[in-house]
Amino acid sequence: MSLIVQKYGGTSVGTPERIINVAKRILETKEAGHQVVAVVSAMSGVTNRLIELADQVTGEGKPTEREMDVLLATGEQTTIALTAMALNSMGAEAVSLTGAQAGIETDGVHTKARISNISPEGVHEMLDEGKIVILAGFQGKTADGKITTLGRGGSDLTAIAMAAAIDADLCQIFTDVDGVYTCDPRVVPDAKKIDEISYDEMLEMASSGTKVMQSRSVEFAKKFGVRFEVRSSLNNNPGTLVREESMSMESVVIRGVSLEREQAKVTISGVNDLPGTAGKIFGAVAEANILVDMIVQNVSVKQTGKTDISFTVHRDDVEKAEAALTPVLAELGNGVTIRARDGIAKLSVVGIGMRSHSGVAAEMFEALSNAGINIEMISTSEIKITVTVSEEQIDEAAKVMHAAFGLAEA
Ligand code: ASP
Ligand code: MG
Repeated sequence: MSLIVQKYGGTSVGTPERIINVAKRILETKEAGHQVVAVVSAMSGVTNRLIELADQVTGEGKPTEREMDVLLATGEQTTIALTAMALNSMGAEAVSLTGAQAGIETDGVHTKARISNISPEGVHEMLDEGKIVILAGFQGKTADGKITTLGRGGSDLTAIAMAAAIDADLCQIFTDVDGVYTCDPRVVPDAKKIDEISYDEMLEMASSGTKVMQSRSVEFAKKFGVRFEVRSSLNNNPGTLVREESMSMESVVIRGVSLEREQAKVTISGVNDLPGTAGKIFGAVAEANILVDMIVQNVSVKQTGKTDISFTVHRDDVEKAEAALTPVLAELGNGVTIRARDGIAKLSVVGIGMRSHSGVAAEMFEALSNAGINIEMISTSEIKITVTVSEEQIDEAAKVMHAAFGLAEA
């Protein structure tokens, strides 16, 4: 007998029929002789609809975050009750638990709370009584009993954290895709499902556009050593196992290729190459709550001591970035200019094998150049190389990379 945590996302429980289908899967797992905790999300679209409702009743004003959490938590509460009902009508013994009832305690940061403690005794007791536990994702309570939510996509975190707390043998994240792919199959049709991936690779793929799961949950899993499998709730295919690194994992140089569209490049030219310049620029950008990704500073011109600094942001943040930086330009000296251009995309290759194999960057750049694709910016980490290219060429660039590293043969 194993102790298994399963998580079903919003699409998997999006209709009554799908909830019944999920209930069947849960029951099959139970009948195979395992103890099961199933974490469920709100039915797809529900969380967004609740946010809209809050907007509608508050007009110009904003709802308090406390009430927002009370509201949002109802999405998952609906699903746990329906899933438990479906199971019970199949003759199983299931019990639904809200985050609070399951002993999930968080800090008091409403709408993006962090889990501070889980007291799993109650869950263990129910499991030992032979019950199936249906747990609401995305929510908890503060020490003084206020309802909190964990941030969008937070049901993944509930599953991983509960798996850690009850020391589960297996954590399965069921979703609407078969797992993590070597590249987006809509772009590269011969992309392959990855059997095993390390936490770090999964995190780097997520930060460069491959959104299968909330990154915070993967970080949590890494910290507490929770192995988990991402797989489809619509079929019985094995998924992708996300786990700590092993020696054999390093033999594959590149695990996958990620792409991210709708990027823009902001360039500030003619700034003095002096201490404090970058601090002022990125301080202003951070103040405006804009996420900056790649940053490139040119070598300064010897005679003038001036340099250029470029960075990428999401296309939708360009105006905000320009507005935030305009007041700073004067402080940066005479003749400083700002320029922004969208229509660029990021292409990344990710793999822990890069640590022990040289020449990956050269291979990447050569393959792109052979395809006539111009690279604008480059940045690297220990296990990732990212370039920006024109958005029009991103699909082609992804195909070229996928082929260059032989990922279809994996
Ligand atoms: N229902 C929440 C959301 O839509 C949490 C989740 O689905 O993981 O963000
Ligand atoms: Mg969701």
